[in-house]
Amino acid sequence: MKKAIFSAPYKIDFQNVDIPSITPDEVLLRIISIGVCGSDIQMYHGLHKYMTYPVVPGHEVSAVVEKVGANVKDFKVGDRVTVEPQIYCGECYPCTIGRFNVCENLKVKGVHADGFAAEYVATEPSYLHHCPADMDFDKITLVEPLAVGVGSVKRAHYKGANVAVIGAGTIGNLIAQSAQALGAGKVLVTDFLDSKLDYAKECGIENCVNTKDIGLAKAIENTFGKRKADVIIDAAATRGSFMSALDASRPSSEIVITGNYKQPMELEIPRLQRREVNLIGHMMYVREDFADAIRFLAKGTVNTNGFVSQRFALNDFDAAFKFIDEHPNDVMKAVIDIGSR
Ligand SMILES: [Zn+2]
Ligand SMILES: [Zn+2]
Repeated sequence: MKKAIFSAPYKIDFQNVDIPSITPDEVLLRIISIGVCGSDIQMYHGLHKYMTYPVVPGHEVSAVVEKVGANVKDFKVGDRVTVEPQIYCGECYPCTIGRFNVCENLKVKGVHADGFAAEYVATEPSYLHHCPADMDFDKITLVEPLAVGVGSVKRAHYKGANVAVIGAGTIGNLIAQSAQALGAGKVLVTDFLDSKLDYAKECGIENCVNTKDIGLAKAIENTFGKRKADVIIDAAATRGSFMSALDASRPSSEIVITGNYKQPMELEIPRLQRREVNLIGHMMYVREDFADAIRFLAKGTVNTNGFVSQRFALNDFDAAFKFIDEHPNDVMKAVIDIGSR
């Protein structure tokens, strides 16, 4: 079977290896497809701070169970599944209270340990989530990024809240749709690109505003009135996006940081302290967020029609990154097709 390995920046090797054997406690997955994520792009460019080469990438996965170990009870051959890629220690304090996403020893498959860019992968079933038998494989591939969106919204007091999301790319779009699906009040998504906002509108996000000329504060006032935003979620992760969130916040707003900031920045702390603005970090998801994501996609509560914008074969993994580098604004979700559906 074939697998892809990131061996150095801008270098992907393909290896032909035996199909892995499984222990009685494992299952063998036949991988159908993987999604290409922002962190894969950072890894490809050699800019990911927390990874080391070589590694098999791929953490957004759709797969079918191919073989089941004798001791495995909950899965059978033919089941459609997705994978939760977090490897946690189970022993640190956050793990003991179910906050596996901030495990003090967290590793992520496809980043710090081998992922799923392979035709077959052996895994313990505890990493798997069942998906409905008729669930479309593209939707299954989108469960992981949607779980990030769900996890992001749940970091704030979102019920009935005015929620503004900065950035209408893959994650911003899924955060805004998660907010609507989870029962936020009004939801606004902003971007500088009309094409992303037009697509956000097609997905059913209520308020989609280009803030290039008017700025975030004005967009928030126009949409939410004098109550402004209870929650501002930053999926753009630039100095400009954070400063605009701070400028647009009102006393007691919550600002959730979901995007990956690449640069340190200075902050005028009294603007948080004196206005009781709550700055909240967010990392990935917990198990229930995955379950919500599967339910929302299976029922169509979150709309991902047209979300997969490009498809590539495993052999053309390089071509996917070249395309993304050359057309960053034309990509919602590029998918690598690995196994037949
Ligand atoms: Zn991802
Ligand atoms: Zn832990």
